[in-house]
Amino acid sequence: MKVQFWGAAQTVTGSMHLIHHNGKRILLDCGLYQGRRKEAFKRNRELPFDGSSIDAVVLSHAHIDHSGNLPSLYRSGFRGPIYATSASRDLAAFMLMDSAKIQVNDIKYVNKKRKRKKQKPFEPLYGSEEAAATLREFRTIEYGHPFTIFEGVSCQFHFAGHMLGASTVEINLDSETEPNAKPTRLVFSGDIGRSEMPILRDPQIVEGADYIIMEATYGNREHAKNSKDGDARAMLKKIIQETWDDRGKLIIPAFSVGRTQEIVYRLNQLAEGNQLPPIKVFVDSPLAVNATDVFRGHPECYDDAMVNAVLYEDDGDPLHFEGLRYIRKVEESKALNTSKEPCVIISASGMCEGGRVLHHLKNNIEKPTTRILFAGYQAPHTLGRILMDGSLDRVKIYGEEYQVNAQVSHLQGSSGHADQKNLLEWARETTEKGDVKKIALVHCELDSATVFQDLLHKNKLGPAIIPAKGDEMVMS
Ligand SMILES: [Zn+2]
Ligand SMILES: [Zn+2]
Repeated sequence: MKVQFWGAAQTVTGSMHLIHHNGKRILLDCGLYQGRRKEAFKRNRELPFDGSSIDAVVLSHAHIDHSGNLPSLYRSGFRGPIYATSASRDLAAFMLMDSAKIQVNDIKYVNKKRKRKKQKPFEPLYGSEEAAATLREFRTIEYGHPFTIFEGVSCQFHFAGHMLGASTVEINLDSETEPNAKPTRLVFSGDIGRSEMPILRDPQIVEGADYIIMEATYGNREHAKNSKDGDARAMLKKIIQETWDDRGKLIIPAFSVGRTQEIVYRLNQLAEGNQLPPIKVFVDSPLAVNATDVFRGHPECYDDAMVNAVLYEDDGDPLHFEGLRYIRKVEESKALNTSKEPCVIISASGMCEGGRVLHHLKNNIEKPTTRILFAGYQAPHTLGRILMDGSLDRVKIYGEEYQVNAQVSHLQGSSGHADQKNLLEWARETTEKGDVKKIALVHCELDSATVFQDLLHKNKLGPAIIPAKGDEMVMS
């Protein structure tokens, strides 16, 4: 009985851990590795095992760094159940199809270059056919309902408070040798959210863990003090008013799934309280529009405030308010380029690595009346990170250079991840009533992991390990 760490090991993305139990192989997550293009391409294509050798998959949540390589797994021969909550499955439906489209478009660009160099073209990592076929393998199980994967392996999803459908996964594994022994409990944290997250229910604690696979994205950092929900709302209010007064545009690069809905929800609260100027707000991302519909269909994930908003708001829709427009069509998106009216544009991708947000940046980044508000994590080397850090005066967008005259800021309180303090608390509560033998820290850079490992040990929690890619944690 063991776990092998194949992704998000000493790095944040590409979550993928393999449980070996009684001859069966169960994969926890199968995420895309995101990073420098060449390395990412190779890593995502070359799975460390044959898809056909995997018996089942358990998916913690639909974020692409957790679900995005499932179609590659299918492509390499995997045929078996993929267990997820229904909200995760519904989000994954749109996200995997969208990801397939991105894979196909990305490869066209690469192949154009290769053709010039007379090199053989690459195949896309996967296309919409593989994504659709992967979706047929999903089996949905709701939170709090135990289910059996194989004889001797049972599982349960718990709220993770990180995104719609996100789970902390409890796995109980019968002993391989002693039939009457107490099962070994492995808790896979998934991505750990925060109790202040808008829309979503708070994270739940799973007790009695013997082994823990724990994310530590922010293991070395605390979110700014003013990271409460109300502060994020106040900041949005202020920056929107300034944009309106300047007759400028506010561009919010945001992930289509999760962050976009949180921002819309906060804007809705402001609008309900008549605290917004009569500015137009556009959500310009087809994926975001689809994801918003999924959010509307999963009240089982809502916290009380969201449920009350559905019940008591006039329009019964906390993801809509007057002045808000969801855009699918390209022409409508393009029309925003020529519009002189002040407006708010929420668009993807969140890290400005592609998508419609690049057009909006290109058209507005040189104007001093433009504001750019980042609303989430920006990975190193991305355009989003460069802009957020202000490390370059001129940036390249679609091969052309632009002077950065826009005012750039960062929305506090917009992280979907627990910070160091929350993580420590999570570890304490999760280990409190058990006899934890090991905590494996994943989903973090090495420096963050090392700081958090020390902190755990100082607090007499653990022992904690920081597995590298391919390392194993033997369980008894
Ligand atoms: Zn996530
Ligand atoms: Zn993640």
